[in-house]
Amino acid sequence: MASRSARTPVRVFWFRRDLRLHDNRGLAFATSGDLPVLPLFIFDTGILSKLEDRDDARVGFIHSTLLEMREALKASGSDLLVLHGKPVEVWKKVLKDYDVQEVVINHDYEPYARDRDRAVYDLLSKSGVAMKSSKDHVVFEKAEVSKDDGKPYTVFTPYFRKWLATLTSDDLKPSKVVSNFLEWTAPTFPSLSDLGFEANAISIPGASVTPKLIKNYEETRNLPAITGTSRLGVHLRFGTVSIRELVRKAKAAAKDDIWLKELVWREFFTQILWHFPHVVKGPFRPEYASVAWRHDEKEFMAWTEGRTGYPIVDAGMRELNATGFMHNRVRMITASFLVKHLAIDWKWGEAYFARRLLDFELASNNGNWQWVAGTGCDAAPYFRVFNPQLQQKKFDAEGEYVKRWVPEIETPHYPKPIVDHVVARTRIMKLYSTGLGRKAPAPSKSVRS
Ligand code: FAD
Repeated sequence: MASRSARTPVRVFWFRRDLRLHDNRGLAFATSGDLPVLPLFIFDTGILSKLEDRDDARVGFIHSTLLEMREALKASGSDLLVLHGKPVEVWKKVLKDYDVQEVVINHDYEPYARDRDRAVYDLLSKSGVAMKSSKDHVVFEKAEVSKDDGKPYTVFTPYFRKWLATLTSDDLKPSKVVSNFLEWTAPTFPSLSDLGFEANAISIPGASVTPKLIKNYEETRNLPAITGTSRLGVHLRFGTVSIRELVRKAKAAAKDDIWLKELVWREFFTQILWHFPHVVKGPFRPEYASVAWRHDEKEFMAWTEGRTGYPIVDAGMRELNATGFMHNRVRMITASFLVKHLAIDWKWGEAYFARRLLDFELASNNGNWQWVAGTGCDAAPYFRVFNPQLQQKKFDAEGEYVKRWVPEIETPHYPKPIVDHVVARTRIMKLYSTGLGRKAPAPSKSVRS
């Protein structure tokens, strides 16, 4: 451990969406060298200023995670430098205040992050400081799993097959972080209110999953009334758990790869976003740009607030608003309802989920919304319309989930359905057919339970 001095030559490790001190590829690399490591996190005003809610629980989660990391670093005589501002401006200050020899990060694949990292790379280069980056967030990235002709996969099943065939035990090896941190004490650590935020009462489950849950996942995954899924999304989002550790657990707990497949959907959409960044702005399939979505604010509000008169839809939206989580089956039902029953632009729904989901991931949120709307790469056909009542019967047969979130369900206070299922179905078929210049399919083939 090198002793504190602003002029001690250091390597800086810049944390972003990899908030852990163990099995962290970039951090392991950073600490393996001769120079002591100065750990840094920047609360990016470019991101924070776009958040609509002052009590956004994700900011609180990052803040409390950083406090825990700081405690762990302090226990070994080091500290965490936490700064607040525009990354390039913050980096100018860091270069002035410290003798930075090298900067280490983990790759981030989102368009905003790519631009940010390029700008910081350019700044560092001008000062003669190298920036090195590791793969950490996924097992396979970019073109590592691609078709034999080198093109990216746009259909999940062959991608998954190739993903499995590519995997070796080396890909899952934990990376060892050694205690080669700069010995120093940080003068400040911004509070939530310094950042312009306040605490939120939402509680976030811990970052663990049992072998039993993984083993039983096929039977439990579709039942929103029980905790049959891992609730690890938020931890994967912010890197408080290692994807390599989860894949090792998935492989050890079950032979059927069903839960593993979910982790790989995440990687599938990450590589879709990497190869096809246009998905952020509009449909993966350009022909869907001509669908004339409705932009009905009143009905959109009813959807966001869980007042559509369709109990499973309302339960899902209320669960999301109250907890920052919504069960995957219910995400599919609520999203489908917005797009197909209300014919409202899926981009509105995508943005609302982005605001509320603790596990919001640009790649997964966008990929799944496009799946639901039929505009995506490996999407549900546009003419399949979930029937919310049948979905409820199938996946919440006793009404336990619905009653939990919509206690007034059997009282006169519960609203009448905002739209009739059959009327809605006919309307959306027309919109799609007109937009795509195709004949509307016959109704019998078009209803999915
Ligand atoms: P588990 O079922 O235990 O799965 C484990 C992990 O696998 C998840 O935490 C997640 O990282 C990954 N995963 C599972 N299903 C998917 C999937 N379909 N696509 C991509 N990754 C998946 N997931 C997000 O992580 N962020 C989002 O913003 C997001 N938005 C969604 C929007 C819609 C409209 C829909 C239908 C799904 C969305 N999902 C999103 C996918 C899925 O609903 C969540 O990952 C899952 O519900 C999280 O719960 P869990 O952690 O208990 O997952």
